[in-house]
Amino acid sequence: MIVVKKGVVRMVVTTMIIIFISLVLLLSFGYFIYYLIFNNKVKKLNCPTCGRELKVIQKTIKCPHCKSKLFEHENGELMLRN
Ligand SMILES: [Zn+2]
Repeated sequence: MIVVKKGVVRMVVTTMIIIFISLVLLLSFGYFIYYLIFNNKVKKLNCPTCGRELKVIQKTIKCPHCKSKLFEHENGELMLRN
């Protein structure tokens, strides 16, 4: 009886460890995929006022360096917003 109980406990512990490892792997895989998709959306453009490189996620942004209000033009360049 004791041997059987020990076997069951070991099986449960092993199953829990496998589930935990699978969860960690799934989470890191999901994060990796999310990072890849998110990274593709981020464009790097130069600010027309101060010339510094900015990460553009939205169509309209504000330069963190010179506080210029900018928008992304159709030709892919940043322009000043009035
Ligand atoms: Zn700027």
